[in-house]
Amino acid sequence: MQLDILSIVAHPDDTELTCAGTVIKMAEGGYKVGVLDLTAGESGTRGNARRREREAAKASKVMGLAHRENLGMPDAGIENSREYKLKIAERIRALRPRTVILPYWEGRHPDHYMTGRIGYEACFLAGLARVQLSGKPHRPHKIIYATYYVPSVRPTFVVDITAQFEKKLKAILCYSSQFSPRGDMQNLFPARTDLRERVASQARHFGLMIGARYGEPFVTREVAEVEDIVNMPVKSI
Ligand SMILES: [Zn+2]
Repeated sequence: MQLDILSIVAHPDDTELTCAGTVIKMAEGGYKVGVLDLTAGESGTRGNARRREREAAKASKVMGLAHRENLGMPDAGIENSREYKLKIAERIRALRPRTVILPYWEGRHPDHYMTGRIGYEACFLAGLARVQLSGKPHRPHKIIYATYYVPSVRPTFVVDITAQFEKKLKAILCYSSQFSPRGDMQNLFPARTDLRERVASQARHFGLMIGARYGEPFVTREVAEVEDIVNMPVKSI
């Protein structure tokens, strides 16, 4: 397997919520995109692991994924251990992605930021020839961080997902166990009707930063090199 892009996330539905528009756009452009879910989301208050697995398979189809797998780590129990890092590194060697998308390394939910941190270290370990791991060493060329769950972070860049917005929403709605059919008092489980407005308003917020209708935000740790300041992809709006 040789993926172009691999999204590594804590829970099934994290990719859909944080970067599905980008994933869909890249898949539409002919890139092979995969998702590595670290847990099955079994601690969620609603739905069970089996139901969420079915939902994830449906969402994969909507997004046009070339590959998806689940590492079966404990939900709400992702920790900074060598065992977990090696487990992820082994999959990186097998899937050989050129670009990896990780969740931002800080935030409210430990599973999310921990995935960002150990995912980064796993990418590093995967490239070391002398680590005791099966598979040929492979280091992704680029790591980008999806910051959607941490809206206070100013993105390094935003991907225009206007044309992919409806499909993104469709992928999110595959996780029907996570949404209430009607209004819900609890903020955690938005009603279906409310979901569209929530997803749209956040995507609109980031879209405005690049003069587009809808966008998804990302951060890179590295500084981008620019050769041509006339044709660089930054608009002053
Ligand atoms: Zn999550």
